[in-house]
Amino acid sequence: MLTNDVLAAWDRESFFHPSTHLGQHARGEAPGRVMRTAEGVHVTDRDGVRLLDAFAGLYCVNVGYGRQEIAEAIAEQARELAYYHAYVGHGTEVSIRLAKMIMDRAPDHMARVYFGLGGSDANETNVKLVWHYNNLLGRPEKKKIVSRWRGYHGSGLMTGSLTGLKLFHERFDLPLAGVLHTEAPYFYRRANRSMDEAAFSAHCAAELEAMILREGPETVAAFIGEPALGTGGLVPPPEGYWAAIQAVLEKYDVLLIADEVVTGFGRLGAMWGSELYGMRPDLITIAKGLTSAYAPLSGSIVSRRMWDVLAKGTDEHGPIGHGWTYSAHPVSAAAGVANLELLDRLELIENVRAVGPTLIEGLRGALADHPNVGEIRGEGLLAALELVEDRGANGDAPVFFDPARKIGPAVAAAMLRRGVISRAMPQGDIIGFAPPFCLTAAQARTVVAATVEAVAEVLG
Ligand code: PMP
Repeated sequence: MLTNDVLAAWDRESFFHPSTHLGQHARGEAPGRVMRTAEGVHVTDRDGVRLLDAFAGLYCVNVGYGRQEIAEAIAEQARELAYYHAYVGHGTEVSIRLAKMIMDRAPDHMARVYFGLGGSDANETNVKLVWHYNNLLGRPEKKKIVSRWRGYHGSGLMTGSLTGLKLFHERFDLPLAGVLHTEAPYFYRRANRSMDEAAFSAHCAAELEAMILREGPETVAAFIGEPALGTGGLVPPPEGYWAAIQAVLEKYDVLLIADEVVTGFGRLGAMWGSELYGMRPDLITIAKGLTSAYAPLSGSIVSRRMWDVLAKGTDEHGPIGHGWTYSAHPVSAAAGVANLELLDRLELIENVRAVGPTLIEGLRGALADHPNVGEIRGEGLLAALELVEDRGANGDAPVFFDPARKIGPAVAAAMLRRGVISRAMPQGDIIGFAPPFCLTAAQARTVVAATVEAVAEVLG
């Protein structure tokens, strides 16, 4: 085995890490932790330090670590048939089986699933399908995609553009033309404090409608949103939000893309966020929870309305010109099948519903009165603790910390010293929780206790 020193040197000299301060990493000022093994909700690093991963990697290891059933399924598939492509109608038994399992679980109005590798490429596919659909319908002007500020949809050229976080645009010449951003559905940070949730939702819908009218409805093709905002702050939608937004989309014949990369397959305690919030999407993006990250796999689930147009289009124009080498990769598909079977067999979504309140209500019970706790929010096993300098009395706006003070990262670091991994979300002092679905009530209480102590250490 390599010594830690050798490994650290090779890492500094060879590895261009994603979303990393490159200079600090290369100089050895900010070494990342090197993980070695994992089991259930715990990961263990090279030095033998065992941590409770309350963010499930990047909210993806939903069934938990160390699942031998998935590892075996991957190994068996790799031995039997490591690869065959899916072009020109080809496939493998396991990829067809997985497609069927996804469609059995998808909302009734969905028709087919297109496979990709990660959430970003699945959203690239979605945008191309939307454009293709409108071309087939003879309306080539109808191409713009509306996203939300604070939405997260990936890191590609188009998907990085859809992402509504400045960090993903700056110095990359993004967003690309044809991408628009509208109000974030973030009630706690609304500008007008006199609005209640329903009024704020109506305001978001009115802003969207004004944008569509300004741009010209004949130019606006689709709206993309996470059912509950993820990386931009972990925010369940305000009351009535999706009903109000969908009414506008229907009025102007704008398609809805539900990005369920985080929420799909049970994170919110329901199979789909769309189902929980009454959304009727034309496309659903899936990734993370599809395989619980045991192998990369994503998908775009396409509604019958779109499918019928796309299928007819190929009768008129020939095969669709869109495909990846690794679409429906059999090794990843084997992970997907074994993962979805585990989700059912262990009743893990039921556990999300059962344990979610222990985490969220536990945080509320212990921290709601802390002067620096602005909001504790969540749904299922997706939760956030938002820290503020001043909560604002009598309905005044809260005062947020100067980002330069890095309060969120300091609290996350203090939690880590207590053996719990949380995530300091990238925009705001927001501590994120998205543990594996197999979290027990006792482990949820451990997470709460570490959070309480860390907040006390950093903020008193
Ligand atoms: N959509 C959402 C909602 C996501 O959270 C993410 C990743 N965090 C993506 C898309 C992009 O997925 P990937 O990183 O697999 O490309």
